[in-house]
Amino acid sequence: MNKIELEKIKQKALEDKIPIIMDDTLEVVDKLLTEKKPIKILEIGTAVGYSAICFSEYLQESGKIDTIEREEERVTQAKENIKKTEVEDKINILFGDAVEILPTLNEKYDVVFIDAAKGKYPFFLKEALRMLNENGMIIADNVLYKGYVMSDYNKHKQRTAVRNLREFLKELQEDSSLTVEILEVGDGLAVAKKVR
Ligand code: SAH
Ligand code: MG
Repeated sequence: MNKIELEKIKQKALEDKIPIIMDDTLEVVDKLLTEKKPIKILEIGTAVGYSAICFSEYLQESGKIDTIEREEERVTQAKENIKKTEVEDKINILFGDAVEILPTLNEKYDVVFIDAAKGKYPFFLKEALRMLNENGMIIADNVLYKGYVMSDYNKHKQRTAVRNLREFLKELQEDSSLTVEILEVGDGLAVAKKVR
């Protein structure tokens, strides 16, 4: 992978205020993926491809990432970025709303990375669980949403997102097939591993 291009992509995304994965969060995910050595990753929320390109480093040979993005302009940029970093053979972008695309997928994934509309996290979780391999892992970003999720914060135009993130975390923690950690890195990261 072309690391110089990756750094340029990161800087441009930051300039353009695209909410790419934060450095401390990426550090944690890097460790998880190093351990896991996934063959198939599903990402919900591609943006300009930054996280997918980073994750592609940890795939087993012949491994693949499917990643979903609903904004056409971002898909176009992501494709360019994937080309520049020379990982076209590892990343497959699905253009459209994940709410519509996910039910059409029937693959199994070793890792599902949830990083899109916060109000849809409970739905994404249901779909992630349906497609998760034995020993699979769900990683979800932004689950603490600037601290709103764990506070008594209730009055804001984002309250639906907050309510749905709380529901997501509750469902995750109540699922006896998973061991769950909620980490206070970045904007909050949930790591759920399937137990046998
Ligand atoms: N994972 C990226 C950042 C993703 S930002 C990285 O770390 O580099 C979240 C992205 O999810 C945005 O680009 C947004 O357009 C997309 N998104 C939000 N809701 C979506 C949905 N329902 N379906 C598909 N994409 C969605
Ligand atoms: Mg994020």
